[in-house]
Amino acid sequence: MTDTPTQLFIGGAWADAADGATMPVDDPATGEILAHVADAGAKDAQRAEEAAVQAQEQWARTAPRVRSEILRRAYEIVVERTDELAHLMTAEMGKPLAEARGEAAYAAEFFRWFSEEAVRIDGGHGVLPDGRNRMLLSRRPVGPCLLITPWNFPLAMGTRKIGPAIAAGCTMILKPAPQTPLSSLALAAILKEAGLPDGVLNVVTTSRAGEVCEPLLRGGRIRKVSFTGSTNVGRLLLAQSADAVVRTSMELGGNAPFIVFEDADLDKAVDGAMVAKMRNMGEACTAANRFFVHSSVAEEFGRRLAERMGALVVGPGTRDGVDVGPLIDRVGRAKVEELVADAVERGARVLVGGRTPEGPGCFYPPTVLVDVASDSRLMDTEIFGPVAAILTFDDEDEVIRRANDTPWGLVGYVFTEGLDRALRVSERLEVGMVGLNTGLVSNPAAPFGGVKQSGLGREGGRVGIDEFLEYQYVAVPVR
Ligand code: NAP
Repeated sequence: MTDTPTQLFIGGAWADAADGATMPVDDPATGEILAHVADAGAKDAQRAEEAAVQAQEQWARTAPRVRSEILRRAYEIVVERTDELAHLMTAEMGKPLAEARGEAAYAAEFFRWFSEEAVRIDGGHGVLPDGRNRMLLSRRPVGPCLLITPWNFPLAMGTRKIGPAIAAGCTMILKPAPQTPLSSLALAAILKEAGLPDGVLNVVTTSRAGEVCEPLLRGGRIRKVSFTGSTNVGRLLLAQSADAVVRTSMELGGNAPFIVFEDADLDKAVDGAMVAKMRNMGEACTAANRFFVHSSVAEEFGRRLAERMGALVVGPGTRDGVDVGPLIDRVGRAKVEELVADAVERGARVLVGGRTPEGPGCFYPPTVLVDVASDSRLMDTEIFGPVAAILTFDDEDEVIRRANDTPWGLVGYVFTEGLDRALRVSERLEVGMVGLNTGLVSNPAAPFGGVKQSGLGREGGRVGIDEFLEYQYVAVPVR
């Protein structure tokens, strides 16, 4: 902690906010203040923009191999410092150390993946159908980018954007969430150490997101915004991007259905549910939000899930043996409490959990609700906490209709041993990703993203770099 930077990172140098403002970062397990970091305002945003704009041309001309090797080196440093970074994430975000180590590995992998993609940006050459012109096709960086990240995966949400931006030859300003700025500042220090030229990455930590970001989006010099966060904020940023016709990538909220058919292997389904629900204490956009379980197996599934959930150890993420850390803050926990109270009022039964513990920290116990009514608020609200809400169904068409009856479409989980049904249901779900007999879909080599109001574009996979590239076509007459 003592070595973690707490200042803004602009033009390759560390600096205080122009008005000297700072903001506290606290530990959600204890409420204690961990550090005060620079709290950027509009002037700092302008300086970061200037640095990114100035660095763009030279960076775009830098050989792909050089960009690739910077990313490769950064990958190695993140892996070497897994433990240190994991402690930082646990301190500012709360997840148990084992999960934080897992996130460090996942985050590093985006740097390795995009170090490999940086040298595979291709183009094309050919004679056009009329025979009179040739086409030279090249791909160029879109230009300076604004990257906005949430607090739930403080390191990986950063590398998932920074990796492809560096690989494509874009410069950038990263604005992390105010709850978890330390991981992003640590990442900036790592990239500097890995040899990233000054101005390519700038980090502005701030509690004044609107003041910092809106002028950047409307100003005409930032050419791209890549955002991960809630659908409401995404919608606002899309509107702000319209003036200067800024390219957008949006990784927004989810409301994942988790469907267990009568022919499912219940061991696999319960294992999958534990991952899809409990990864990151349920604070994941991919978290299973609505469990639809066939009525013939619902009781057994609920009983087994409640047993597993009830056995999890809740406590500070730094403590050995802890499975479930605190939620991010009191606001996040209050939302979970309200959603559970609302479901219970409408007839849900609590099989396990459901009671906020006394004492400091934002803890909430793993909870299983059964007999949940379809009009409960948690059916159309991201719970973002360790609460599994179980409903029953009897018919395939019916469950697909109910699963799709939401404005979101990030991910769905399907458990069945029937191949035909597995493929048929996957095809009919209105989602960008499907976990088929698995509760984990995230992988740097796969395109991550949603349909409907869950977003625009994809991160990771072969297509992840496309979000940061433009085509240029040159017409050359055939003589
Ligand atoms: P959030 O409130 O939308 O905030 C996300 C980021 O946007 C934060 O850095 C936030 O900073 C910033 N922000 C808020 N208002 C802004 C504005 N007017 N201009 C510029 N930036 C602004 O979301 P969150 O609560 O941190 O994260 C949870 C949400 O993220 C969930 O909905 C989850 O599903 C989604 N998520 C999606 C994915 C995905 O890949 N699809 C991955 C992870 C999380 P401030 O806090 O200072 O406002």
